[in-house]
Order: sequence, then structure tokens, then C-alpha cells
Amino acid sequence: MRLRNITGSREVIAQSPFVVGEDILFQCPGTWKEIFGNDRPVRIEIGMGKGRFIHTLAKEHPEYNYIGIEKYSSVLLRAIQKMEAEELPNLKFIRMDAEDIVKVFAPGEVDRIYLNFSDPWPKDRHAKRRLPSREFLARYDVILKKDGILEFKTDNRALFDFAVEELEPAGWRAQVITYDLHGDEKLMADNVMTEYEEKFSSLGNPIYKYVICR
Ligand code: SAM
Repeated sequence: MRLRNITGSREVIAQSPFVVGEDILFQCPGTWKEIFGNDRPVRIEIGMGKGRFIHTLAKEHPEYNYIGIEKYSSVLLRAIQKMEAEELPNLKFIRMDAEDIVKVFAPGEVDRIYLNFSDPWPKDRHAKRRLPSREFLARYDVILKKDGILEFKTDNRALFDFAVEELEPAGWRAQVITYDLHGDEKLMADNVMTEYEEKFSSLGNPIYKYVICR
């Protein structure tokens, strides 16, 4: 998702109390407990878009701390606006390319990772940029605690098939795989819809999901 460039979005982000600034980002590994002021587990969404999913989770689960990570300022701005409308003490945002994720969290510092409707990067030569690729799984392997899990949802079958194929070579395994999330009553019990999920499921697209661990 890349919204039209919004004038001043970088300035708003730089001044927002909800965003951990780029200037201090690489000093953050191992300090997230201090940043939140408590030692609750930290859960992150990579590529959060406009932030509906993580804002809802943070509201429903004050027992966790949440961090939404988004590459584009114009998109992050929408998540900031949601926080301005309803402030939550257990949610922070980072504007960054997730390629650098291991520079922001200490080994094992993250309790859970969410990927939702990640960009498909359909060309083979761009496979490394896909967030569920083996290159990214190797990064998640560093920051995610030993018994932590990663949840991934998408409506893109080619991306989902690719993501499933990446698991074994990357040393991960699936705890759950479904090719029809919305038809699974048990999995839907605690499902939180994302903006893309609402859009594509309303068009009749099936939603695919896995939950993986090492
Ligand atoms: N997760 C949201 C949802 O389900 O509604 C947004 C999905 S949108 C298709 C994917 C988002 O991931 C975009 O906002 C994009 O900018 C962001 N993104 C893609 N690659 C990224 C990366 N390497 N680091 C951080 N954000 C990324």
C-alpha cells in the first residue's frame, strides 16, 4: 500500500509521541521494557498499513505491548490519526523498512509477529523482499523468542503457496494452515480483521492463514 504523498507527513511523524523516532531506533534493542514502562510481552505487526488490526488488538489486550511497523510515512499517518482519536498506552509505531528489524530488537525480545496481507512482489527476482520469504524468516528467527509464533494472513494464493514452501528450508514448521480462514469457526473466534481483509473477503476471496513456529 502506498498512498499519495501527503505533504508534511514526515514532520507529523517526527513530532508524534506515538512514534519511536528514527534517531533513537537503533539504540532500542533490549530497551523496549523501558520504552513502554513495563515488562509486558512485545508483539509486532510488520507492514501494518493504516493500523486497524494492531490498534484493535492493543485495545482488546492491555496485557501486551504492541508495535506497528510501516515503511511509508503517508500510510503510517493514518495509524497515527487512529491513535489521536483513541489513545492507547500499549501501542507504539515505527516507520522503517523491516529489512533492518534485527537492528531494532534484541535477540528473543519479541513475543509474537504478525504479517497481514503482505505485498506479493510477484517477480521472482524480488522474492527476497516478500515478508514471509526465507530471508525475512531468518531475521524473525533472531528477534522472536524461542517458543514464539508468527501469524500470516493473505488472500493471495501465489504468495501463500510461496510462504508455505519457504518454511522447511528456513527451519520453521506450521502449527496451523487454513485455506479458508473465514469458514473456520474456531480460528475466527479471535480473528481481528485488517483493512485489506475486510476489502478482499467482501469480494468473496478466500483468506489463507498460517501460524508457524521453529
Ligand atoms: N497489514 C495491512 C492490512 O492487512 O490491511 C496493510 C497491507 S498492505 C498490502 C502492506 C503494507 O506493508 C503496506 O502498507 C506496505 O507499505 C507495508 N510494507 C511492505 N513491505 C514493508 C517492509 N519491508 N517494511 C515495512 N513495511 C512494509
